Formats: sequence, C-alpha cells, structure tokens
Amino acid sequence: MAGPQNLTIALSKGRIFKDTLPLLERVGIRPSDDPDTSRKLILDTNEPHIKLVIIRASDVPTYVEYGAADLGVAGKDVLMEHSGEGLYEPLDLGIARCRLMVAGRPGAADGPGRLRVATKYVHSARAFFAAKGVQAEVIKLYGSMELAPIVGLADCIVDVVDTGNTLKANGLVPLEHMADISSRLVVNRASMKMKHEAVKRFIAAMRDAVAGGTEEV
Ligand code: AMP
Repeated sequence: MAGPQNLTIALSKGRIFKDTLPLLERVGIRPSDDPDTSRKLILDTNEPHIKLVIIRASDVPTYVEYGAADLGVAGKDVLMEHSGEGLYEPLDLGIARCRLMVAGRPGAADGPGRLRVATKYVHSARAFFAAKGVQAEVIKLYGSMELAPIVGLADCIVDVVDTGNTLKANGLVPLEHMADISSRLVVNRASMKMKHEAVKRFIAAMRDAVAGGTEEV
C-alpha cells in the first residue's frame, strides 16, 4: 500500500512560527530545527512525509497559490493584500491576533483635502478610503511606518497594531479600526483535490488543536 501523501507547509519566522508550533505539537508534528537559530529554509519534521518551508510572511500566499507548498499559515492582513485566486482558507487559527488600523497624530485624518497615507497595506488602505469616499494618496512603505507622520511623509499610516505601544512610543494614536486580524490556514486548490486524504486529515486535526484537542495527523 502507498504511504501517506507528502505535505509541505509554509510558515514564516517569528510570531507566526512561535504561535503555530504548539498547534503542530498537538497534532503530533515536531520540526527538526528551530528556524530562529537555524539557517535552513526547509525543515524536516518527526513525520517523514511532512516538511516545513520557512519564508517571508508576505510570500506564504504566493508559495501556496503556486503549489510550492500544499498548505501555509498567513495573517489575514497578508491575505487581504494578496489578490490571488488559488487559495482555500478553511480555518482561522486564532493566533497572532491584532488589528489593522489607521493611526496618526490626534486628529490627523480630520483635515480637508487629500489624505496622504503611508503603508505596506496599499490594497487594503485604498479599498478602505475609497469605500468611505475619502480621497487618499497611498504611499507604499516596507516597514517602520510609524516614522512617516513624524517626518511629514504622510498624514497617517495603516498598520497592524497589537498592544499599541509602538504607536504610543512615537506619539501616534489609533484613529480608525479597519479589521480584526488573526492567522489563517491556507490550502492550495490542487492539493485539496490531489492530496485530499492527507490535507483533509491535517485540517481536521488542526481544527481540533485550535479547539484544545490533541488528535494526531
Ligand atoms: P505593538 O504591540 O502594537 O506595539 O506592535 C508592535 C509592532 O509589531 C507593530 O509595529 C506592528 O507592525 C507589529 N505587529 C503587531 N502585531 C502583529 C501581528 N499579529 N502580526 C504581524 N505584525 C504585528
């Protein structure tokens, strides 16, 4: 009889990996290395048919869409920016929770005329201000968005906020709540069909793990 189907799971370093690890542990999957100390980009696990690929958070939807990974864990903020069609999003893992917000100096979004908004979430920001009928010029940045209003690059920013400490430390305040964010399990559409048994079992086990169970894959 054929063995279990191979599964490749895409994860990013840092918060997502740290929060996904206990869920994987509950379904009986333990990586061979710690990506925060190892330089390996592909990690074996105790399950010979399951591998992890460690990539940038914003690349996870692309790897899964093109089938380079069968499954992945990505923040809803990243998924909202990624316009790809090739993904299923079957499960909210409830981890890495935060809020996508407009932030700036107090009253920054109240002025007349076009608003300048600095963000790495260009798509979400454009859609949000367009839906409100607010004219906004969106400036793409790749990080340290909090600096933009301080140096006069923008009136406000769109960024994910957890404790709000980073905003506060830079003299900024949350102005508008755009969306609640958490990490989602995403699945390649072809893998869902071609590796149905293994994928279905993994999703079911992860769903159980999110609910606090320990059913192994
Ligand atoms: P905070 O706790 O609000 O000071 O967040 C610190 C920084 O971490 C902020 O600049 C955010 O961009 C980032 N951050 C907070 N929560 C998340 C998350 N769940 N996923 C990704 N980045 C986050």
